[in-house]
Order: sequence, then structure tokens, then C-alpha cells
Amino acid sequence: MIPGPIEVSPTVLEAFETPPPSHLAADFIENFGSSIEMMRQVWCAGPDSQPFVIAGSGTIAMEMAVCNLLEPGQRALVVNTGYFSDRMAEMLRRRGVQLTEVGARPGQVPSVDGLKQALEARPVDAIFATHVDTSTGVRIDAETICELARQYDVLSVFDGVCATAAEAFQMSEWGADVYLTASQKAVGVPPGLALMVASPRAMEARAALSEPPPMSLDWREWLPIMNAYEERRGSYFSTPATNLVNALEASLAEILAYEYRGERGISARINAHQVAADAMRAAWTTLGLELFPATDDLAANTLSAIMYPEGVDASMLADIKKRGVIVAGGLYPGRKQDYFRVGHMGHVITLPEELLKTVRAVAEALADHGHDADVEAAVEAAAKHL
Ligand code: PMP
Repeated sequence: MIPGPIEVSPTVLEAFETPPPSHLAADFIENFGSSIEMMRQVWCAGPDSQPFVIAGSGTIAMEMAVCNLLEPGQRALVVNTGYFSDRMAEMLRRRGVQLTEVGARPGQVPSVDGLKQALEARPVDAIFATHVDTSTGVRIDAETICELARQYDVLSVFDGVCATAAEAFQMSEWGADVYLTASQKAVGVPPGLALMVASPRAMEARAALSEPPPMSLDWREWLPIMNAYEERRGSYFSTPATNLVNALEASLAEILAYEYRGERGISARINAHQVAADAMRAAWTTLGLELFPATDDLAANTLSAIMYPEGVDASMLADIKKRGVIVAGGLYPGRKQDYFRVGHMGHVITLPEELLKTVRAVAEALADHGHDADVEAAVEAAAKHL
């Protein structure tokens, strides 16, 4: 129950655990092509958008977006909500991009007025934001940021590493230009794939660069490969992570076939994440715990960032582990000792018993550490939602 890498479904594991397939095998070509098509559905992106599946991590996906969209001397605004926004800002700086950062107090998000003022004061070429910052559990309002980007006619880039496939995101309808993630989070695959979808405008920004980005990160090198596989032809630029692409195909197919409370597909999957998050939050409230996000509407579907109550510290995590559940410590710079994080994304949201086991383990560990925790009430509060 850490916020990634997450537990993958048995179907995904089965697709992954094979002798390494050739990148030219017929089954592999089919799986790659259909993964690219399914990404558009999971990302809610139109037929003119371009998915990329690259061997790598979330950080590599971030770097790819930065160096294909902007070149030294251009300007960007970073909506800074924590550790991973800091990373995005540093990457932009290293690319020679001139930065404006608009931050907020820990657990909060910058106001729309603050962002507007920054855009008025200093025009930029692109806005970068972290959809869910995994260090704080805070979710930004991506739709509003897309609106702002359209209003100021600038590119919008979202780090969806802790969000994609679990939080609502209408890439084409909202007009986002890049939505990127990594395989090991809510997409539900082992670590090792950098995944992103680029809008036509983003592809134009790459075409307008005066110097190409580093070769291995260049969308122009990868585009013919993505096109070939989508047309069900094998191709080669750099060896794909074949086992992982097979696992990706299995996971995206599972996500799109998912049925929940009368709905099917990505919207059903996102609703199920919302319900799982509500269930976990009901348990934390019953236990008298406070969350890191300042208000409920800022709290992500994908994880809970929970403040240690008075008298309890990080030594509690070992007692949760003893009960068969692994959760994560804090990550926000300077605040790591104040809170812990419980991931609830991907396959696990289809397993209410695992969610309830987690609530019980946290509640019992808290009680062991002297917190006045009503274990049964917490489990019941979560169960009511599920
Ligand atoms: N952005 C966010 C929001 C993340 O949570 C992470 C990883 N936890 C990253 C970027 C970096 O991804 P990776 O560790 O796969 O490089």
C-alpha cells in the first residue's frame, strides 16, 4: 500500500512473466499497437493525439516533455505543490528555461488569481503542473489550469505519475498538451515504462525547436516507431521493454473492461478510485486523524497523506508492517517526520478486503502507540463506502 510501485493484477503479472519476447514477434506487435490505441481512451485523448511508450520512468517522461517542448531562453510557469514540482522546476532550469514558480503553503494549492497575476506579470510559453503531488497527496484543479493555459495561449503539461487512470482527466476536452505518467502507479504495471500522450500543438512545439533534444528523448525519433506499431508493423529505434509492453496491454485492457456501479471503462475506474479514497478518508476521520491536504477537495484519490497524531511517530510504520501491510513515510522536504502515506490506487481498489485490512493495520498500530483508536469503528466507516 505504498504510492507506487503498486501491486499489479494477476492478469498483468501473467502477461509480464514470460521469456523476453522479440520486439518483432507478431503477438508483441499487436500488443504494442493496441496499447497505443488504448492509451488514448484511458487518457481521454482524441484521435489526433500522439501516445508514446518508452522504456523509462516517470522522471524520464518528465524530461522528455521538457526537452521536446522548450529550448533554452524560453519561459515556463511551474505550479508548485511539492517535491515533484520541485523536480520539474529543476529540470526546466537545467534546460535553460526561465522560470516563474508559483507555490503555496504545504498541503495547499496556489490560487487561480495568483497564477493569473504571474502570467500577466511575465508571459510564458508553457505551464507545468503536478496533477497529484505524491509528497503531499494534494491534487490540483487540472481543468482550471487547462482553461488558464488556453486563455493565455500557452502549452499545458501535467505530471500525472500519481494520477493517470485514477483521477478524472479529459485530455482533449480540456485541451491539455502533455499528460505523462509511469507504469508503476495507477496504470498498474511493474516499473520501467515512461508513458505520455502529446497533443498536436505539443508536436508542433517539438517541430519548432531550433536544436533537437538528446536523441534518446526526441519525439521525432520515436514518432515513426509509434506509428509503425500502431499500423501493426514491427520497427526499431531502441529496444522496447517487451515484457512491460505486454503487461501494459493487459492492464489497459483490464482498466477499459472494468465495470463498476453501472458504468464501464475509464470513468468506472475513476469512480471506483474516488469511492476507495472516500472509504479510506472516512476511516482516518473516525480515527481522529488529520490529512496533509488542507481541505477534502484537495485530497487525491490515489493516496492518503496522514499526519501522525500527538505522541505517535514514524516508529509506528514498523508495527503496520508487522500486520502484513506496507505503507510509506513522509516525503515533503522538512516535513518528512510529520506524516505517513498510504497508497490506494490500481488493482487494490477492486479488493475491498485489502483496503479494510489496511485500515485495521493502521488503526491497531495507532492503538499500540497510545492513540485512542476505535479499530472496529474505523473499519466499519470505510466498509460503508465500499
Ligand atoms: N512525479 C510524481 C508525481 C511521482 O509520484 C513520481 C514518482 N513517485 C515521479 C514524478 C517520478 O517518477 P519515477 O520515480 O518513475 O521516476
